[in-house]
Amino acid sequence: MSKSSHIHNVYAHNETGDIIHVSQAESGRNGYFCLGCQCILIAKKRNILIHHFAHDAKDVKKIGMCTFSDETYTLHEIGQKYQVLMLNLIL
Ligand SMILES: [Zn+2]
Repeated sequence: MSKSSHIHNVYAHNETGDIIHVSQAESGRNGYFCLGCQCILIAKKRNILIHHFAHDAKDVKKIGMCTFSDETYTLHEIGQKYQVLMLNLIL
């Protein structure tokens, strides 16, 4: 198993509790937290193709591998956008 099998999420909570996309994040450890386990996430945006948030290795050792996937959140968000779109069409 390589490291690439680890789940890489593109959404995280910021310090104020808002959900942000990795594109809005500053690379590094800047107060980002996992939507699943609330552990510290590190925005990985330097010298890599796909920007994502990664768990702090220390936390993963403590709690084991987090299996939260933000696919669930993404689907939810798409649903919300679709709903807004439908409302705009109706109104
Ligand atoms: Zn997590």
